Amino acid sequence: MRRFPADEACFDYLVESRWPDGFVCPECGWQGVPYWIATRRLFECRNCRYQVSPTAGTVLHRTRIPLHKWFWAAYLVATLTPGISGTQLQRQLGLKRNETAFMMLHRLRAAMVRQDREKLRGVVEVDEAYIGGKKKGKAGRGAAGKTLVIAAVERSGKYAGRVRLKVIPTFSRAELHKFIRDNVEPGSTFITDGLKGYTKLEGYTHLPEIEGTPERAAKILPHVHRVFSNLKSWLIGTHHGVSPQHLQAYLNEFAFRFNRRNTPMAAFQTLLGLTPERLGPTYKGLISVAKGHSDAWRHPNPRRARPSGGPG
Ligand SMILES: [Zn+2]
Repeated sequence: MRRFPADEACFDYLVESRWPDGFVCPECGWQGVPYWIATRRLFECRNCRYQVSPTAGTVLHRTRIPLHKWFWAAYLVATLTPGISGTQLQRQLGLKRNETAFMMLHRLRAAMVRQDREKLRGVVEVDEAYIGGKKKGKAGRGAAGKTLVIAAVERSGKYAGRVRLKVIPTFSRAELHKFIRDNVEPGSTFITDGLKGYTKLEGYTHLPEIEGTPERAAKILPHVHRVFSNLKSWLIGTHHGVSPQHLQAYLNEFAFRFNRRNTPMAAFQTLLGLTPERLGPTYKGLISVAKGHSDAWRHPNPRRARPSGGPG
């Protein structure tokens, strides 16, 4: 709130995040100081006259909610360990309508999907558990109301690295193998319990361990066990349980925050959709950056830069 007290600061930050090396036209790749059309809050390319809003492609585009409220919401969602409910967000932001808070949460959560494309690597713990339902623990596999979830967690020394979580229909060999192939880099080592379905996966080193007792199981797969335990408390404590059809969305949210627990600012930017233009999805955008950036214009915010500062 200190850093982004009002929309002006948010807007500047938006521009700096989007064009960290100076303005690049998303249409023609021209670099320099664009025209600023104050009435419509748009930049215009001096080369091709293309007009672009700094909020285009972000969650903030064409919204009537003040930018600083979006920023505060994204900060809370990105950094608050247990996440935040719609009702809590409404109170925090002083919103009149409950629906507004839920809509904001929904849009911020949408940014969490498919953000983690890089596969896990090194030594990875893999395990599965039943989540939800009324019965406790691993007993009664296949019990009604429970959903099967598989998890993979990187071992980074004695700490946990990144996590992947997925709802799976069965623990057949095909399902287990597919999850590992989709989420773990070939050549990595994965450690599991003695479940037969994990065996015979080519391209990986597999270390199966016999659990014996629950105490020993926790010792063999400490990180994945801790993830499951935290996940379960979070689902029960914050959300009072989750229905099976919504579970994957919550798993995504849990994994998103877990994987960014040491980089909250990156999480914040991702939620708002503030990906720098150079990482943007358009081919033109990539090409324009590949040409190299100009030293002629160092000011991060085109609006404040000298109008003659462009390379022309
Ligand atoms: Zn242009």
